Amino acid sequence: MKLEEKLYLLTYKHDKQNHITIRDNDVCLTACGSQWGRPCTTFCPANVYSWDGEKTTASYENCVECTSCLTGCPYHNIDWRLPRGGFGVQYRNG
Ligand code: SF4
Ligand code: SF4
Repeated sequence: MKLEEKLYLLTYKHDKQNHITIRDNDVCLTACGSQWGRPCTTFCPANVYSWDGEKTTASYENCVECTSCLTGCPYHNIDWRLPRGGFGVQYRNG
C-alpha cells in the first residue's frame, strides 16, 4: 500500500488552535533557502509544509504527529507541540 493510501485511512479531529509555529520566517527566506533548500518541504510525510515564495506555511491540520519536526529543521525554527488532548490524528490501522 502506498503512503498516500495509508494517509487516506487516517482520521483527524481538527483543533482550531495551531500546534505548529514557524519561529522566524527570515531564516526560511534567507539562510535555509540558500544552504539547505528548505528541508521541511520534503521530510514531512504528510506534506504539512510548503514554501509560497515568501514564507513557509504549515497546514497543521494534516500533521500525523511523527515528531520529525523536532530534529528535521536545521535551524530548530519550528515550534512543534502535540495538539491539545482529544485533538489531532487518530490511527485506526496500527
Ligand atoms: S526547514 Fe526550518 S528554517 Fe528551513 S524552511 Fe523549514 S522551517 Fe524554515
Ligand atoms: S510532526 Fe511529522 S507529520 Fe507533523 S508536521 Fe512534523 S514532520 Fe509533518
